[in-house]
Amino acid sequence: MMPGPNSTSAKYTMAAGPVSIHDRVRQAYARQLLYHYDPAFHALFDDTTMKLQQVFQTSGDVVIMQGEAVLGLEAASACMVRPGDKCLNLVSGVFGAGYARHFRYYSGQDPVEVKVAYNQSIDPSDVRKVLKQEGDIRFISMVHSETPSGTLNPVREICALAQEYEAISIVDAVSSLGGMDVPVDEWGADVCVAGPHKCLGAAPGSALIAVSERAWEAMRVHPSPLRGSYLSLLDWKELWMEQRRFPFTIFVSQINGLNEALTMVLEEGLGPRIKRHSQVARMCRMGAKGMNLGLWPASEEIMSTCVTAISVPEGIDAHELVDHMRERYGIVITGSLKELEGRLIRIGHMGHMAQRVYVEMALSALELSLLDLGYPVQLEQGVGAARAAI
Ligand SMILES: *Cc1c(COP(=O)(O)O)cnc(C)c1O
Repeated sequence: MMPGPNSTSAKYTMAAGPVSIHDRVRQAYARQLLYHYDPAFHALFDDTTMKLQQVFQTSGDVVIMQGEAVLGLEAASACMVRPGDKCLNLVSGVFGAGYARHFRYYSGQDPVEVKVAYNQSIDPSDVRKVLKQEGDIRFISMVHSETPSGTLNPVREICALAQEYEAISIVDAVSSLGGMDVPVDEWGADVCVAGPHKCLGAAPGSALIAVSERAWEAMRVHPSPLRGSYLSLLDWKELWMEQRRFPFTIFVSQINGLNEALTMVLEEGLGPRIKRHSQVARMCRMGAKGMNLGLWPASEEIMSTCVTAISVPEGIDAHELVDHMRERYGIVITGSLKELEGRLIRIGHMGHMAQRVYVEMALSALELSLLDLGYPVQLEQGVGAARAAI
């Protein structure tokens, strides 16, 4: 589709991550390169690590791996899971379902699963039942914010169960860190993985990983610990944390951007930032409802505050709607993945884009686009309802 007369050359990305980022972070990526053994770079890397610990609310170790967030999620299994280990995978959406492949690959068998419909969240009492029944689960994986469904899982309760049953928890907090409360130590999460390109407001390109002492121990007791591998967390610990040598050349520009993004998170404060995300999420939900659109998650209590998942109304094609919003109005939202593809659209309000004006803009473009595509909405109803929510 050609851009229409009303299209804008600026593009506002409010997809499910990456999203548009603040100019301060953008300019940080453009800083002059430092040699990765320059003491100035070491100081920057240490500062980034320290800030990340604060955002993860942990006094334990954090590792910044280069690659995408999925690399960190796989590394957790690659480093800890032994052949024959019994694993429990919790599935309430596409990312939860996807984790089974790592458990399968490294343990050599199918994981046990607790599964719910993709508009629901995991019930901790079901997890307890399985832990009791099986008796020897060693690992539990869960997703905090199931981005493709716009839902949340009760990570605090599930991590407590993991502790009680002496299992190691692996938490995918890729989309929530920096926008929702992710208190790693308080939860007792063993490996918690986040991405820079969602609520933290930076670019994709690293896996941010909090590692507990229990998790390091699980890596050490592995009969053939993973070494000399891009996936090895132990390499990072022994080379970088203990000998101040990097396993390979470090992604200098990525650290520049990530550091700036983390600095901005801490300047704003975790509390106010979490509140900002939940306020704009509420606005977005009210806006969708104001347009008579249905929200995908089964109830308000389980809705994630980084992304709003909206059911596509009868007679509207999700792809066409998303394309139209982008090409005509310059607002980039997204559909969903796998089983949910075509059934949902998602508005990402993460990091810098978790602001009232951007959400109003997205809702306005959504109203106009629905109207353009022949769906009966009354202009202003969505935006008006969103405004009234504040
Ligand atoms: C985005 C996302 C991922 C994948 O992150 P990549 O950067 O693509 O590796 C994993 N889990 C959740 C919940 C996500 O939102």
